[in-house]
Amino acid sequence: MAQKDYYKILELPRTATEQDIKSAYRRLARKYHPDVNQDNTQATEHFKEINEAYEVLGDKEKRYKYDSLGSDWERLDKAGFGSSRGSSSGGSYTYDYTNPNGGFGDIFDSIFGTSRTRTRPGGSGGASSGTNPGPSIHTRASDFGFGRGATPRPQRGDDIEQPLEVSLEEAYQGSTRQLQIQSTELCSYCSGTGMRSGQRCTLCGGRGVVPRPKRLEVRIPPGVDDGTKVKVPGEGGPGISGGARGDLLLRIQVLPHPAFVRKGPDLHTTANISLYTAILGGEIIVASPKGSKFALNVPPETQNGKVFRLTNQGMPVLNLPNSRGDMYVKIEVNLPSNLSEQERQLFEQLKDLR
Ligand SMILES: [Zn+2]
Repeated sequence: MAQKDYYKILELPRTATEQDIKSAYRRLARKYHPDVNQDNTQATEHFKEINEAYEVLGDKEKRYKYDSLGSDWERLDKAGFGSSRGSSSGGSYTYDYTNPNGGFGDIFDSIFGTSRTRTRPGGSGGASSGTNPGPSIHTRASDFGFGRGATPRPQRGDDIEQPLEVSLEEAYQGSTRQLQIQSTELCSYCSGTGMRSGQRCTLCGGRGVVPRPKRLEVRIPPGVDDGTKVKVPGEGGPGISGGARGDLLLRIQVLPHPAFVRKGPDLHTTANISLYTAILGGEIIVASPKGSKFALNVPPETQNGKVFRLTNQGMPVLNLPNSRGDMYVKIEVNLPSNLSEQERQLFEQLKDLR
């Protein structure tokens, strides 16, 4: 089923008032009426579309559902999406929202395509929804009062999720990152309608939004882990009709570390010690991911593979500044090699003593 943009058909911005819709309908219906367009089947077809569009946009309740659900609203409405205006929370309409598992491609889609379907008709078709040129109607924008902006229904912008890789060191002590993000803002040339002078907007290509590259300084708190979402308020998608911008959510992925394995709040590492330290005991130096060093006392006759637990030397716990996990240090004994003749004889003697 073809997705129809009733606003485009009526040559109106989405912020059109009831009065705008009424007068646009009257004017277009007169223009494309079959009586004045005899033998012009295209005009007749368009006349039907105009009536269909007015039937929906001219009815407050239907328009609301159409705005929320897109041109498939009737089917979705029956399926239970937003069936009652009063009982539905605004958020429940974002049914074809950003893929939370997606990478940058999905984010891009959500900025330029999918996320617009919440506020623009065109269904779940993604990026193509905003670029449908619609019926070719040639009129002047001034006829319709574009951008007058009456009856705005402020809508908060979409949240945008974006992956961010951090090192274990950053997760351990927190960091400040400079990020170049690619967000969007409403196109000023068409006021976010995607249409200008009855044609697809040349600046935004009908999307209603334009790229908004921005440099951001983001604070990564200590203790972040895989899947932690760091919220950057107000850096998500643009709001509609004066609504606030959504948030940027940075989905953290902690990169593997050569020396430490993280298991929840705990850190696991390995310490290599000599045979002599293992047998006679001694002090060894263990480093934290931050680089700070501390001494670990190895008791005499420590077995290979023995694990020591260092309490409160693990990862910090997110949002609990005074909590830390533990560090587990596994001992690996290095056996001497390239023995001299004298050493070999001493080991022989040791063996005989046993
Ligand atoms: Zn535009």
